[in-house]
Amino acid sequence: MSENGTENATGVENLVIVGGGPAGYTAALYASRANLDPLVIEGFKWGGQLQDTTDVENFPGFPEGIMGPELMTNIRAQAERFGTRFVTDDATRVELSDGGIQKVWVGDTLYQARAVILAMGAEPRRIGIPGEMELMGRGVSTCGVCDGAFFRDKSVAVIGGGDSAMEDATFVSKFASDLTLVHRRDEFRASEIMTERALQNERINVKTPYVPVEFVPDESGKLAAVRLRKADGSDEELLEVDGAFIAIGHVPRSELVQGQVETDDEGYVLVDGDSTRTNLRGVFAIGDLVDRTYRQAITAAGSGCKGALDAEWYLRDSEAGIAPADQSGQELETV
Ligand code: NAP
Repeated sequence: MSENGTENATGVENLVIVGGGPAGYTAALYASRANLDPLVIEGFKWGGQLQDTTDVENFPGFPEGIMGPELMTNIRAQAERFGTRFVTDDATRVELSDGGIQKVWVGDTLYQARAVILAMGAEPRRIGIPGEMELMGRGVSTCGVCDGAFFRDKSVAVIGGGDSAMEDATFVSKFASDLTLVHRRDEFRASEIMTERALQNERINVKTPYVPVEFVPDESGKLAAVRLRKADGSDEELLEVDGAFIAIGHVPRSELVQGQVETDDEGYVLVDGDSTRTNLRGVFAIGDLVDRTYRQAITAAGSGCKGALDAEWYLRDSEAGIAPADQSGQELETV
């Protein structure tokens, strides 16, 4: 509500896309080329997780690689070229409807649409131990690639046993004086090639099976140590470090729609088969919000394309009064 107690409501859009990562922008590109005039609520920190990376070497079309932020700027500009409009702020509330008007608020402003594509992505998983949030940015980080260079000649820990942990450890070891990879099991979930690369690196020490139980600050409020406990509880010790990188996976950012649309136990939004249709008509979900398996920029972009086509078919069919069960999209003429 605004100061005078009223709400600013805009007219009813065809399509609102919530999220400004590779999935959301690709959906916007397709939807704008299909003349749906989409509005993207892209987030205050637009660009998604690729804003926090450096070189992207596996996005097709860039034989020399491309920087993550540049790739996102380019996809956004490509969508803008066909008329996509952007709100560079965070959605604060969503009210979903089964086949009716979809509502998304950004603060006091209400955006309404006949269809909505959810593309809020995922965020780093937290361990949930004392000191974690307080020391975030003061020695604790969830992004090795972003923050590794701040720890030149310092002692660091990397926590996790998946590909992200191996990637972070390998990257941060280029700067750190010593690096301890802490994992709760003796086996690693990471792929063989990434595990081998990390384990053969003589600057990386491995500490298993240990779990972090506390991030301990020094007097100035910066990270001084990680308290580690052996997985069976038989031992506890302090690992003195200047930096700690948490790399234990991601969680979908579905909190705005929890309880409204079907999700699985971990909060991933559920879609119908290999489509992007959720259990609510007119509500589509794409990218890392849905994908617990692949989570790549290119798969997110691909699902953005699917989301735009599904939304286009839905809008076409609902305008023609065709029952949603008949949505096949088969006669669609792509633009
Ligand atoms: P992940 O594969 O889910 O691994 C998470 C790791 O963190 C696991 O080893 C897990 O331990 C550990 N963990 C989870 N919760 C924990 C907790 N509360 N405390 C301590 N440890 C905890 O996640 P990811 O490494 O982010 O990878 C996700 C996907 O992205 C994978 O498909 C991966 O292959 C892909 N990826 C690929 C690349 C690449 O190829 N360049 C780079 C990064 C990620 P347990 O093993 O005991 O469960």
